[in-house]
Amino acid sequence: MSINLVPMPNEFHTDYKLFFRRNILESITVEYDSEYSAEEYSIVIDDKGAAVKCSTKAGENCAHQTLRQLEFGYSGNIPYLTIHDKPAFSHRGFLIDCCRHFFTVEELKKMIDAAALFKFNKFHWHLTEDQGWRMEIKKYPLLTEKGSQRPYSNFGRYYDSKPYGGFYTQEEMKDIVEYCRKKSIDVIPEIEIPGHSSACLHAYPHLSCTGKEVPVRTHAGIFKDILCAGKEEVYEFLFNVIDEMTAIFPGEYIHIGGDEAPKDRWKECPHCNRKMRELGLENYEQLQGYMLNRIYDHLQKKGKQAITWNESLRGGNLEKGIIVQNWMEKNDECTIRASQGGKIIVSDFFHYYVNYPLGMTPLKKTYMYEPIPSELHENMRKNIIGVETPVWTEFIDNFEDMSKMCFPRMAAVAETGWTNRDKKDYVDFKHRLTYVIRMVEEMGLKYPDVSQWDPRFLQSAKQVIKFAYNMYNKETVKALRK
Ligand SMILES: [Zn+2]
Repeated sequence: MSINLVPMPNEFHTDYKLFFRRNILESITVEYDSEYSAEEYSIVIDDKGAAVKCSTKAGENCAHQTLRQLEFGYSGNIPYLTIHDKPAFSHRGFLIDCCRHFFTVEELKKMIDAAALFKFNKFHWHLTEDQGWRMEIKKYPLLTEKGSQRPYSNFGRYYDSKPYGGFYTQEEMKDIVEYCRKKSIDVIPEIEIPGHSSACLHAYPHLSCTGKEVPVRTHAGIFKDILCAGKEEVYEFLFNVIDEMTAIFPGEYIHIGGDEAPKDRWKECPHCNRKMRELGLENYEQLQGYMLNRIYDHLQKKGKQAITWNESLRGGNLEKGIIVQNWMEKNDECTIRASQGGKIIVSDFFHYYVNYPLGMTPLKKTYMYEPIPSELHENMRKNIIGVETPVWTEFIDNFEDMSKMCFPRMAAVAETGWTNRDKKDYVDFKHRLTYVIRMVEEMGLKYPDVSQWDPRFLQSAKQVIKFAYNMYNKETVKALRK
């Protein structure tokens, strides 16, 4: 038996015999019960309306989203039912890259509305990159004055000769935080350390190893100029930036990057090499571990938790308390870390990256992915704290295209994050989603027709070829050769 809800509740019962025939949202009573865990809730719908039980505002919000979906799906004709529900994972996140392309506060709010509908509880906000620094930091005004602007954009088909830029003021970021708070979504801002930092180095070149001018990048890629790990002034800069971030973002987490940082400059840098010798470090990956550990210590003093991408495990010296976000499929280092008690968030590239065409990552592939590695011992499975779906925007330059990439696949990640594995069923999910997804259209988002959610082989091949073709033009090929 099923019901038009996404994610599917973990326990529900109805016999579809009796119906509540008014607007359920106007007939809700809420009772707080301390026996319930944070996001747990129950709902009983009978002739009096909906009686909700929960122990926190987060639980109440989850119940509210369930009721909104019921009201929409059954339009004033909701069967009497009981639901008792709580999430499979505590971390259910979505990442938006606002650096490669910029999205306005109003656009982000639409995405947040849609994410809340599916009970996401973490908004990972990617704010600093090679192609633009998007976060106002008052102590370092050049970060946004210079670092938020690039002279043109060269993302294949999305070639645009006009200057491109934008950033969020601290007031705007606080506005987003407050908007999310009302929906029980924590904002996790990300500052990329030490790589993906060209825009930062363009504003303040002395923070790199060479001290030479670095451009804000105009094309996609991985760049050799990264923050120097040997200069003390780099740490001072990062601590100051993070102090302003912690004043804006009251949540528990700050993401400190740690991915795709080539060590070419560090190898030639007297400061980095001196630091390595002083600390007795064996290799440059350990130097990255040291750098991120220092940031982590600083965050801990402020009562904050740090998250990094999985590459930061390579040195083998990353502090145990740092949460690792794994984007490489079934990464062994992550499995080992989880088996030793380290916390892991799963964002697998091949399944959860929604910036690739449905022909490459169809809905079913995203839905069927099992985030917990099978080799992980039962007792250690709790260390996989959740799932997160990123939308990277090198090849997405407007909100409509972004929302079409995010939906329907974000809903599949939401259900994996919420619904227990034994309750998941793809055919049923897809059927339920065809109803519920119409709600995101009312929020101003677009999604592809259901016939495109799981494309057939030829259609898939066409999409993948077109996508690859669109990534390149004469300029990008030239840049890649360089
Ligand atoms: Zn250096």
